[in-house]
Amino acid sequence: MSKILILSGAGLSAESGISTFRDSDGLWENHDVMEVCSVEGFFRDREKVLGFYDQRRKDIEDKEPNDAHFMIAEMKNKFPDKITVMTQNVDNLLERSDCADVLHLHGQLTELVCEMCGNIFDIGYRPIKEYSECPECQSHAVRHNVVMFGEAAPMYQRLYNELMRTDLLVIIGTSGNVLPVSQFASYTKYSILNNLDESWAIDNSVFTHTFYEKATTAAPKIKQLIEQFIETGAIS
Ligand SMILES: [Zn+2]
Repeated sequence: MSKILILSGAGLSAESGISTFRDSDGLWENHDVMEVCSVEGFFRDREKVLGFYDQRRKDIEDKEPNDAHFMIAEMKNKFPDKITVMTQNVDNLLERSDCADVLHLHGQLTELVCEMCGNIFDIGYRPIKEYSECPECQSHAVRHNVVMFGEAAPMYQRLYNELMRTDLLVIIGTSGNVLPVSQFASYTKYSILNNLDESWAIDNSVFTHTFYEKATTAAPKIKQLIEQFIETGAIS
């Protein structure tokens, strides 16, 4: 059976008003990324980092999914066995567009993880101080469930396994600085790239189709190609 992997990044949620850090200035909402998103920074100032994620969690509460999220959800729900949805995003906009089985490579803002037993639990948009205890083991060592720089991302193994059985790879809104997406595309028979701008980190010659435009305007074209692939096993 022909398989499709849709892999998204910050560019998917940008039109919903969710900001992320820019590689150019190393800042995220005026915070030094290495202070608030790295293991070293967390070690130095735990309260500051937990507070930063409280703020990010609160920030996504009033954000809405856009047409690109809804397109992914529609395709996934229509062809659940053929499509795998993975995202680098830590927001919950794919879930809120009713997309089933979203795999988050870098964790999720609305979850905490227990450092003692590994239990992951949802807290919605609340601050961490309201959940000082793991519901499983009652440990007080709970933190944001977002992968930081300097930490292993356990879901990457799943991503590599998926890639090995993917025939059509769809990349939406990821600059290629964190994940080598053109290398991924070279593993697969067909591939689609949608980014706002060209990126030095991506060799676009390996992709079957490239759309340099907003995710919402590329979405109907990507949908058509996915449907064509499901019907015929190929895209032209
Ligand atoms: Zn625990």
